[in-house]
Amino acid sequence: MQTKLLINGHLVNGDGPGQAVFNPALGRVLVEINEASEAQVDAAVRAADSAFQSWSQVSPKDRSLLLLKLADTIEAHGEELARLESDNCGKPLNAVLNDEIPAIADVFRFFAGASRCMSGSAGGEYLPGHTSMIRRDPVGVIASIAPWNYPLMMVAWKIAPALAAGNTVVLKPSEQTPLTALRLAELASEIFPAGVLNVLFGRGQTVGQPLVTHAKVRMVSLTGSIATGANIISSTADSVKRTHMELGGKAPVIIFDDADIDAAVEGIRTFGFYNAGQDCTAACRIYAQQGIYDRFVEKLGAAVASIKYGLQTAPDTEMGPLITAQHRDRVAGFVERAIAQSHIRLITGGKAVDGNGFFFEPTVLADAQQDDEIVRREVFGPVVSVTPFIDEAQVLAWANDSDYGLASSVWTADIGRAHRLAARLQYGCTWVNTHFMLVSEMPHGGQKRSGYGKDMSMYGLEDYTVVRHVMFKH
Ligand code: NAD
Repeated sequence: MQTKLLINGHLVNGDGPGQAVFNPALGRVLVEINEASEAQVDAAVRAADSAFQSWSQVSPKDRSLLLLKLADTIEAHGEELARLESDNCGKPLNAVLNDEIPAIADVFRFFAGASRCMSGSAGGEYLPGHTSMIRRDPVGVIASIAPWNYPLMMVAWKIAPALAAGNTVVLKPSEQTPLTALRLAELASEIFPAGVLNVLFGRGQTVGQPLVTHAKVRMVSLTGSIATGANIISSTADSVKRTHMELGGKAPVIIFDDADIDAAVEGIRTFGFYNAGQDCTAACRIYAQQGIYDRFVEKLGAAVASIKYGLQTAPDTEMGPLITAQHRDRVAGFVERAIAQSHIRLITGGKAVDGNGFFFEPTVLADAQQDDEIVRREVFGPVVSVTPFIDEAQVLAWANDSDYGLASSVWTADIGRAHRLAARLQYGCTWVNTHFMLVSEMPHGGQKRSGYGKDMSMYGLEDYTVVRHVMFKH
C-alpha cells in the first residue's frame, strides 16, 4: 500500500505523527500513516511555486497530453484504485469500479480538451490607437482540500481543472480517506514534472491550516463542510487569497400529484441512499403533494426497506457503512431526535446496525414539518424525510427556505410547472424527473451557504484562471 507523500517529485514518509486509517465496513484499522510536518507543508508549497514558473508556460496541447495520459493510467489501474477506495470507504466495490472510475477518467479527459478551448471574451480597439486583448492566465499555487465521501472523484474535480489551466497544486485529501490520492500521487509522479502536483497527508488543523495560510498559496479550493469553509475563508482573509468553496447541501425533492410515482420512488431509493446518503446532493428532503402522499410514503418505505447493505465485496451489496463510528453516532442522533417528536412517523430503518462496521439502517421518516431539524440540517447519511404539501406556491417557498443551495429536483408531468419551478429554485442545479446525474460538461456548485465556484465544465476551468487585460499602443 502506497503511504508516502509526494513532494517535489519525490515519494517521502511523513515526518509528523501517525494517524490510523480505517476500513469502516469492518471497523478495523487498515494502516497507520504519518502526517506531513509543517516543514514538509512548506517544502510542498515551495516546490509548487517553483514548478509554476515552467508549468504555466507549457502549451495547452502539451498539458492536455499529460492529463490524457493520467486518465489512461487511472483506467489501467481502475481495479486496484477501486479496491483501495472500496476498502477505505466501505463502498460497494462494483459501484466504485463501474460508476466512479469511468467518471474520474472522464473528468481528466474533459479538462484535457477544455484547456485547449479556453477563450477570451473580447479583443479589439476600444481606445483609438490602442488594441486590447483579454487573457485568462493561471492563478499560481492552488491548495486543494478534499473530503472523504468520494475521495478520488473529489481529487479529480480539484486537480484536473487546476492543472489544465496551468496552475500547480498541493493537494490534501481527507485524513480519513487518503489511500487512493496517495496511490494517484505515485502514478502521477511518473507523468508530471516534479512539483506540478504535490500530495500531503494529515488532519485539517495540523496540515490543512498551515497549507491554506501559506504565503505562496494563491488560491484555496475546498470541498467540505460549511464550518471548514467559513474557517478557511476567515483564516485566508488577511492575505486576500482567492477561495473556491463546495460545501454542504440539503436537496429538496418536490413530487407533485401528477408525477410518475414509481419513478420518483425508484429515484429516491437510488439517489437518496447512494454512498449511504453521504452525498452533498443526496435526495433527502422530500416534499410530496397531498393527493399522492400516503401512497408515496407507503411505496417509498417498502422500496427503501429492500436496500441491501453489507460488506463491500458482496456482489449484491447496494449500500455500505458510514465513514466513522463518530459519524454513525451523529446520524443516529438526528434520527433519535426526530422520532422523539410525536408528529414524526418512522416508516423504516431508524437505528445503527449491531456489529463492528459503522452501518446505519436505510431510514424513511414521514410527516416531518418544515421547521424540524431533520428537514433543515444536513444529515449526510441514509436518512430521508417526507413532508406533505398543498400547492406549488407553498412548496416553492419551503424548498427555498434553506441555508443550503446546492441541488434540487422536481418530479411532475407538467412541463410548464417544471419550467416555472426550475426558474425560481435557488439551487446550483435543478433536475426534472431525475436527480443526482452529473456530467463533466455541466457545472456543479452551490449558492447560499453551499458555497461558490463551480466544479467541472468550462466554468470550473475558468475558476482556476485570472482574467487579464493587455493593451498595446499602436
Ligand atoms: P470537512 O469540512 O470536515 O473536511 C473537508 C476537508 O477539509 C478535509 O480534508 C479536512 O481535513 C479539511 N480541513 C478541516 N479543517 C481544515 C482547516 N482548518 N484548514 C484546512 N483544511 C481543513 O468535511 P468532510 O466531513 O470531509 O466532508 C463532508 C462535507 O463535505 C459535507 O458537508 C458535504 O456536504 C461536503 N461536500 C460537498 C460537496 C460539494 O460538491 N458541494 C461534495 C462532497 C462533500
